[in-house]
Amino acid sequence: MIQDKTMEEWIQSFPKIKDLINYEETTWFNNQLVNTDEALAHASLSERDILDAEARLKRFAPYIAHVFPETIEHAGIIESPLTKLEHMPKLLNTPIDGPMFLKQDNLLAISGSIKARGGIYEVLTFAEKIALEKGMITVEDDYKKFDSNEFKSVFSKYELVCGSTGNLGLSIGIMAAKLGFKVVIHMSQDARLWKKDLLRSKGVRVIEHEDDYSKAVDQGRLDSQKQSNSYFIDDENSKTLFLGYAVAAIRLKAQLQQENIHISLDNPLNVYLPCGVGGGPGGISFGLKVIFKDAVNCYFAEPTHSPCMLLGMMTGYHDGISVQEFGLDNETAADGLAVGRPSGFVGQLLEHAVKGVYTVSDQNMFKLLTQIYDSEGIKLEPSALVGIVGPIKTKEKGVHLAWATGGNMVPDEVYQEYYDLGKSI
Ligand SMILES: *Cc1c(COP(=O)(O)O)cnc(C)c1O
Repeated sequence: MIQDKTMEEWIQSFPKIKDLINYEETTWFNNQLVNTDEALAHASLSERDILDAEARLKRFAPYIAHVFPETIEHAGIIESPLTKLEHMPKLLNTPIDGPMFLKQDNLLAISGSIKARGGIYEVLTFAEKIALEKGMITVEDDYKKFDSNEFKSVFSKYELVCGSTGNLGLSIGIMAAKLGFKVVIHMSQDARLWKKDLLRSKGVRVIEHEDDYSKAVDQGRLDSQKQSNSYFIDDENSKTLFLGYAVAAIRLKAQLQQENIHISLDNPLNVYLPCGVGGGPGGISFGLKVIFKDAVNCYFAEPTHSPCMLLGMMTGYHDGISVQEFGLDNETAADGLAVGRPSGFVGQLLEHAVKGVYTVSDQNMFKLLTQIYDSEGIKLEPSALVGIVGPIKTKEKGVHLAWATGGNMVPDEVYQEYYDLGKSI
């Protein structure tokens, strides 16, 4: 029994569960979709919150440029390029209606994944709060001040904790260590060894768990609660993290204008976002919906072994059910998406705004990984590929945008293994 229902009853109510439990690629269209104003009418967050987050990132830009020289070129604003895919769409074997772009978060500075948006933003927010409360800074000051022994010695009395499949830990770990915080990252079993090693080399304490991501988060939360001066970054529930992701929408709007792409109801933007627990794709979708309203269609994409958001949204049970309860193993090479239970906060906030969710097999991820390298010279990690097949799965018309969520930090020898595997398929 899962939530008082037998499997037969579940399948009777939601026939797609049959495909899901057989690990078959599935596309679900949200029959609860309503127009954007209505969908977000009761949301606990608004456009003002996104603008506030953007302003905070601007205040920190001089500091970021100062301590991460690779960001000087963009004056300390961490943003990824928008790249038109010229060759890849032809390899998909199905004609696509409209141009296709890749949002290259694989190239994001500092940590090479989508987590450089939410994770770094939440660490900065926490640091600013302490500095403001202690009267060490005002919002008009030059934030380069954060790079000083005085600030670091204050921050060294605080500990930041999170649970992660890998990339969130990297973003939070790198940023928090730079500011002088103590950092503890609880890693799930699927977290890659190189991610743990990299963090340890930065002085971060990495705690490994035999269990999956949800358990790593639970343990991190519990440990953190026991300590005063310990702050837990909650990937499942954090509104701060969510707003860090949402800022991407403002930046994307400017990039589309630069490309002379006009988004309208007649020429909608279709965005395909890899989804783990939901914070990243959820935050970005929220931002996009606030800006483009009904002219944007947001789809989430998950591995066939971890379709937690699809199950949660389709059934309306959100974080009340997990893929494991339905007999799925939650084992996938897409480590960033290996999540068995979705964020209830994100699922509920967007249950009338996300247009659909589809799943992709690991086999197809690897095939796409090799194809996009051969055709466009772009290096992505497996999680980052699931957006690419969005136009085929959804049959949307308009402008297509696959969100490539990570890849830049993958060591060459690990990437080579991925590539060879894709080539052999
Ligand atoms: C974390 C992650 C995602 C998904 O973000 P969630 O907030 O977990 O939904 C997608 N791709 C990569 C590479 C990630 O690390």
